[in-house]
Amino acid sequence: MISTHMKTKSMMATPGKRIRLKDFDPAFKGGYASHAHVQSRLKANVQRLAKYQDLLYSSHTYALLLVLQAMDAAGKDGTIKHVMSGINPQGCQVFSFKTPSERELSHDFLWRTYCDLPERGNIGIFNRSLYEEVLVVRVHPELLKQEHLPEFAGPSKKFWQHRFESINDVERHLVRNGTAVLKFFLHVSKEEQEKRFLERLNDPGKNWKFSEADLHERLRWDDYMAAYEDMINHTSTAHAPWYIIPADHKWFTHLTVSNIVVDTLKKMNLKYPTPTNAQRAQIALAKEALQRGR
Ligand code: ATP
Ligand code: MG
Repeated sequence: MISTHMKTKSMMATPGKRIRLKDFDPAFKGGYASHAHVQSRLKANVQRLAKYQDLLYSSHTYALLLVLQAMDAAGKDGTIKHVMSGINPQGCQVFSFKTPSERELSHDFLWRTYCDLPERGNIGIFNRSLYEEVLVVRVHPELLKQEHLPEFAGPSKKFWQHRFESINDVERHLVRNGTAVLKFFLHVSKEEQEKRFLERLNDPGKNWKFSEADLHERLRWDDYMAAYEDMINHTSTAHAPWYIIPADHKWFTHLTVSNIVVDTLKKMNLKYPTPTNAQRAQIALAKEALQRGR
C-alpha cells in the first residue's frame, strides 16, 4: 500500500516542472480495490478535519482556501459534501462561481472572488473560481468582449501570461497574510463523464443535474485539457500548488482530497490560544464565583 505522503506528493503538480495531463491516470486508485477498503480512513479523516477546524477557528489568525476546478460531472459537489461532512458550518463557507453578472464584469477579473475569501479562522471553498478566467474564457475567448477591458487587442500569449501572473501574485499575498491555498483539479476521463451524463439522463432523481450546455463544453474537451494543462503549468507554485486528483472513482477522489486537506492543516501546527496572565486570573475568579453559586 502506498503511504499517504507518497500519494499526495505524486499528485502535486511540482512547481517549475512541466506536467502533461496525459501522464496522470484519472482511474488511478492508489492500490485500493474499492470504496469498502477506504471507508474507515475516510471516516477518520472527516474526524481529524473537524478537530483541526476547531483549532483553526480558535486561532482567528489563519484561514484555509480550497479551490475546486473540473469538467462537468467530475464530482466537485460530491467532494465538498463528503470531505466536509463533519465540520462546523459556522467556520466554513462554500461559494459557487457561475457566469458573471454585469456588475462583476464591470470589475477586474479578481474582484468577485476576492470579496468571498475566507476570514481568519475559517475554511473557504471555491466551487469553480477565478481560474474560470483562464479556462472557460480561454476556450471561448469571445467572452472577453463582455469584460470591458482597456485597449483589448486579442487573447495573445502575453495576455494569458499576465492573467497567470496576477493570480500568482494575489495567491502569494494571501499566503503571506495567513491564508493557506490548496487547489484541486478533479481529473475525470471523457469516458467516465459520458457515463455520468447518461446516469443523469436515465435517473429521474438526477435529471435536474443535467444541463444541455454541458454537452457543448464536452465537444471542446481537448481545448479544455490544453487550457487546464497550461493553467497548472503556470500557476502551480510552492505557496499555492495544484493537485491533480484522479476522479473516475469518487471514493478515491474523496480520500485523496481529505488526505491533502488534513495533512495541510496538521502542518500548520495550530494550537489553542494560550490564556494571558490576566485571562488566567479572570478564569480563576469566574470559577470561584460559579462555585459559590452567584
Ligand atoms: P453543477 O453543474 O454541478 O451545478 P457548475 O459549477 O457546472 O455546477 P453551472 O451552473 O452548471 O455550475 O455552470 C456554471 C458555468 O459558469 C460553467 O460553465 C462555468 O464555466 C461558467 N463560468 C464560471 N465562471 C465564469 C467566468 N468568469 N466567465 C464565464 N463563465 C464562467
Ligand atoms: Mg454544470
